[in-house]
Amino acid sequence: MFETLTGKLQEVFKTLRGYGKLTPANIADALREVRIALLEADVNYDVARKFVDDVQAKALGAAVAKSVSPGQQIIKIIHDELVGLLGSAESSLQISGSPAKILLVGLNGSGKTTTAAKLGLWLKSKGRSPMLVACDVYRPAAIEQLQTLGRQTNVPVFTLPGELNVPKIADQAVRVAPIQNRNVLIFDTAGRHQIDEPLMQELVELKKAVRPQEILLVADAATGQEAANVAAKFHEKLDLTGFILSRMDGDARGGAALSMNRLTGRPVKLVGTGEKTSDLEVFYPDRMASRILGMGDIVSLVEKAQESVDAEKAAKLEKKLRKNEFTLQDFLEQLEEVQRMGPLENLLAMIPGAANVKNL
Ligand code: GDP
Ligand code: MG
Repeated sequence: MFETLTGKLQEVFKTLRGYGKLTPANIADALREVRIALLEADVNYDVARKFVDDVQAKALGAAVAKSVSPGQQIIKIIHDELVGLLGSAESSLQISGSPAKILLVGLNGSGKTTTAAKLGLWLKSKGRSPMLVACDVYRPAAIEQLQTLGRQTNVPVFTLPGELNVPKIADQAVRVAPIQNRNVLIFDTAGRHQIDEPLMQELVELKKAVRPQEILLVADAATGQEAANVAAKFHEKLDLTGFILSRMDGDARGGAALSMNRLTGRPVKLVGTGEKTSDLEVFYPDRMASRILGMGDIVSLVEKAQESVDAEKAAKLEKKLRKNEFTLQDFLEQLEEVQRMGPLENLLAMIPGAANVKNL
């Protein structure tokens, strides 16, 4: 995931690192490239523009720390903005309540039924007792698919054969749950090829009947910003609590993940990374951002340097070095400065590509 964007950003960063000094002009040049990279990753146009504007404002305003190169300063700003774009912090599922209720909605083929099974398995691993509820009643194959997945994962599936009234099915499931000692209900719903009024109406009614803690849109990450547009429309009608992006394994661009949060104000909570029922991961914005930037953990390194290196002292030292006045005492202080940043091995591991050097 995100390979395309990572590749493009690496090129921009290489140029940025080469600049001895940052000027408004070369910042603008670099950020123009960043914007193109985002658009090529299928990020929503307005989202990409605002992102670049925000980075630009911060980059121009930031007093350049003396302990890091100007290029790296901007990379740090881009990282922080990316984390914000992806949703700031991990957004855990609200699964309190007895039973807790999670409604999965989305277009046809977006991965709802598969995700329901994945979620069941995942909740079980967290010590919960989930039950899947078959609310996609129009195609018998849909119920069978859920039952098969339920058997595979050893999670019970609630169905009312022949019943087409979806709120009624949901209501029954809620009644049955405590009898069967089930404390989380996952409702698999019907989709459509496109958003239409009857579907939305059905989901609105189901929501009213169920009063779920979570109403999550399952969206196909591979459809890029179209997924984000669909998300915005569902959100308008249903006031979603968040998203699960399926097929992240098949998406090299990342446009959906990068646009979703800005367009709706709701977080991506989980991602599907394969067809197996175990292929579900929690979405961590900060780790995703590092992954997108493909740069080891340069961010922590910069932070460490900012924390522990005395910038004034460093400047004085540089002067001394230039004038050939560098003494043994200065050398000792310099060593202590590096020591304050922690074991050398740990520092090395944070430098992209340098993790292997220690094995030489
Ligand atoms: P629904 O119509 O929304 O219920 O979608 P399904 O759950 O039936 O999924 C449609 C197809 O997408 C199935 O073939 C799934 O195996 C596949 N699928 C779902 N999630 C993922 C995922 O995270 N990665 C991959 N590679 N395939 C997925
Ligand atoms: Mg389905």
